[in-house]
Amino acid sequence: MNLPICKLCLTNKADKMNSHIIPKFLCKGIFAEIPHRHTLRFVKGEKERKAQDSIKEDNILCTNCEKRIEVIETYFGRFFKEWENFTAFPEQYTLLDKNLLLCTKVHPILFKLFIYTIIWRLAISHSKEFKNYKISEKVVENIRDFLNAGLKNNKPQLLNSFEDLSTPLFHFCIIKPKLPENILLTAYNINNSVHLTIINAFGIIFFSDENLNNNVFVEVSNVQNKQVLISIGDNEIWQSFNQKIFQTFSDSQ
Ligand SMILES: [Zn+2]
Repeated sequence: MNLPICKLCLTNKADKMNSHIIPKFLCKGIFAEIPHRHTLRFVKGEKERKAQDSIKEDNILCTNCEKRIEVIETYFGRFFKEWENFTAFPEQYTLLDKNLLLCTKVHPILFKLFIYTIIWRLAISHSKEFKNYKISEKVVENIRDFLNAGLKNNKPQLLNSFEDLSTPLFHFCIIKPKLPENILLTAYNINNSVHLTIINAFGIIFFSDENLNNNVFVEVSNVQNKQVLISIGDNEIWQSFNQKIFQTFSDSQ
């Protein structure tokens, strides 16, 4: 079979089947049977339906690159569990002013590598669920280059080689609701240079325009390589996201 070339290393054949677009551990709650909670995907122009499984694609990655992504996902799995209950880990998490959570034990460059594996996969995905999440080719290539240099085959290599990486200069913010919210999985462009992803009440706002002057998001941005910041949003913000998504959905009916 004539396989395409892996989209990450651009070297090996993309022999891997069933590559996850969203890390499996982040999707856990979304695809579990939880009564009283939404288990929907939102695609403009399509009827709501129940998601049976996380979204996977064939022949986008080679086995080696799939492994490299798995290594960083495994490393970050535990941090996401801790964020749900960060007050139990006072040495690792400090709540600053303006509901900003500072994650002192997470290295910002490693965090960047992890977050960009999600943004990049969403951007290259052919799944119709993510067809409204589009990032310019130039930016996608910049991210790919960073990931290709930084992702490694095993944890010791990963942890020993990220310090000298040059990182992309795009702003991104991480948001989390104060209280547990309805479960959602969505990714779409707010406009040409603002890209929103919400996975299980954890959100990434990515700005593909490097000049984010005077924007309120600058002070909570993770573009800097000094600290990892998470904005804990009031639940009204999440409800307005939900409303916007429902609105988009119902407008298309
Ligand atoms: Zn590859």
